[in-house]
Amino acid sequence: MEIALFSSKSYTEHFFTEANSRFSHEIIFIAQRLNHHSVSIAQGCQAVCVFVNDVLDRRTITALSKNGVKIIALRCAGFNNVDLKAAQDNNITVVRVPAYSPHAVAEHTIALILVLNRKIHKAHARIREGNFSLEGLMGFDLHDQPVGIIGTGQIGQVVARILHGFGCRIMAYDPQPNPHCIELGVQYVSLDDLFRESYIITLHCPLVPKTHHIINARSISKMRDGIMIINTSRGALIDTKDVIDGLKSRKIGYLGLDVYEEEADLFFEDLSNEIIQDDQFARLLMFPNVIITGHQAFFTNNALQSIAQTTLQNITEIEQNRTCPNLVTPALIAP
Ligand code: NAD
Repeated sequence: MEIALFSSKSYTEHFFTEANSRFSHEIIFIAQRLNHHSVSIAQGCQAVCVFVNDVLDRRTITALSKNGVKIIALRCAGFNNVDLKAAQDNNITVVRVPAYSPHAVAEHTIALILVLNRKIHKAHARIREGNFSLEGLMGFDLHDQPVGIIGTGQIGQVVARILHGFGCRIMAYDPQPNPHCIELGVQYVSLDDLFRESYIITLHCPLVPKTHHIINARSISKMRDGIMIINTSRGALIDTKDVIDGLKSRKIGYLGLDVYEEEADLFFEDLSNEIIQDDQFARLLMFPNVIITGHQAFFTNNALQSIAQTTLQNITEIEQNRTCPNLVTPALIAP
């Protein structure tokens, strides 16, 4: 099958070329993002392979369909950037990689918690300047801390297991509790109780209408003073303006982000010689208790190998009319 792979980077090409030796598809690697402007590049291809910031709205999907595209293959787990109803209306099959390495994202989540708590970012900068003072670097033991996990699927479950190793007291909210987490001793509570009781809250639910801005002024007001909030899931789970207000009032004591609501205009590109136009993002960068990484939680060699293998396998299964376990349908956004 001819596949137009959008938002391609050197590492994407490397891992997809390697994995394709077992599938023999014809892959065209395209650096541009897919949106309604770039859709014509996919002309003649039966599949497009896309990533988190490609825009698959109704306009793009209708144009893809007119160009003969039959498959949208997401090389990620989240699918909030695809209008699934439009895909269904245009008879386009959508597939994704639901689990490639939950460990990659879970471990990055823990890295953000540890860096923020022990202020490693500040300590590193200080030591390089010959400043060995400990003033302002005090952290807290993770042992016995109440941590709230929102969403205990593949990633949330691994986060729970690692935090269990630290001796944290783990609470969770998920409309579908995970038996492995229950076995681990995770206590499922209401969202309000999780907001009220946690010292650290980490987000691992999908971005769906119900979870959009799940962290907002109202939910922040229920939290403990000095709360640590970690988001490695999707940017729009957090209302950025409300979180900035929470940081300014010191209600929020720590914020760790790997994703950002308006990341599409920033992440994955070298903008070091540009002027950042996003004032909210610039404000976030000014807080000493905020750490931001540019959507890199997934970025391990194990995850990239797995993503390439599963994506090409998904496309092959659809091409050969075989059962594909990784279909994305509008029913998935129901919970
Ligand atoms: P998953 O589908 O295995 O788990 C998601 C869990 O969220 C499920 O248990 C589901 O029941 C739960 N959920 C659904 N609605 C909810 C709600 N309203 N409140 C609380 N929980 C709810 O997904 P996963 O593989 O664990 O991935 C989680 C998210 O992580 C993805 O949706 C994706 O957006 C994000 N992600 C980010 C990166 C990154 O690099 N930063 C990489 C992979 C995935």
